[in-house]
Amino acid sequence: MTIYGVLLGPPGVGKGTQAKMIAERFDLAHISTGDILRDAVNKRTPLGLKVADIMKSGGLVSDEIINSLMEEYIKGLPDGFLLDGYPRTLGQATFLDNFLKDIGKGLNIALAIDVQDDEIIRRLTGRRYCPKCGRGYHIIYDPPKEDGVCDNDGEKLVQREDDKPETIRERLRVYRERTAPLIDYYKNRGLLEVVDGSGSIEEVHRLVLQVLERRGLVDKA
Ligand code: AMP
Repeated sequence: MTIYGVLLGPPGVGKGTQAKMIAERFDLAHISTGDILRDAVNKRTPLGLKVADIMKSGGLVSDEIINSLMEEYIKGLPDGFLLDGYPRTLGQATFLDNFLKDIGKGLNIALAIDVQDDEIIRRLTGRRYCPKCGRGYHIIYDPPKEDGVCDNDGEKLVQREDDKPETIRERLRVYRERTAPLIDYYKNRGLLEVVDGSGSIEEVHRLVLQVLERRGLVDKA
């Protein structure tokens, strides 16, 4: 049994952090649409040029662009994956279901991470990342050894353009309007598990593991 999962929840709840930990532990592919798009923007590829402005404003890239991008990614994957930041609309969710069905696969978990809005804002405004290696930090919860520079390569850490306060508000609004309905979508399919994301990274990781064990998707540690 392997995991075919999606991670749900507003920006800043720790989807990326948890997905990375689970993917490393169980040797799964971790696909973050946000990371793929940011990389395209940094490299100024045709895709990157197309999506840069909308990402900067906190809006969503069109379903058409995202679905065809993900189709290519998922096709090439070995068994077992965690999707982080996709799907984000009902159109993407139904596309994913149909596409997986066509290739003889199907999701076996939708893991939602739940955190209060004021804590989300605290987390997002404190996020920093290394523009060279991509490693993420948080100035309070997960600081680098030396203030403002990456532990891996000494590069100066930067803030994501869309982690600035004015854009965060828009991203939360878009989440509520377009992405939150996916909670019911997956609940109705019996795939939803909700985890309290308010604790530390390790605490949330333990809760995620418990859910995966309970569902029989991983062996008990
Ligand atoms: P994230 O790193 O997941 O917060 O994504 C950063 C930004 O990339 C989002 O605010 C969107 O502009 C864009 N994006 C990422 N994933 C998707 C998606 N599934 N659908 C539409 N836009 C997306």
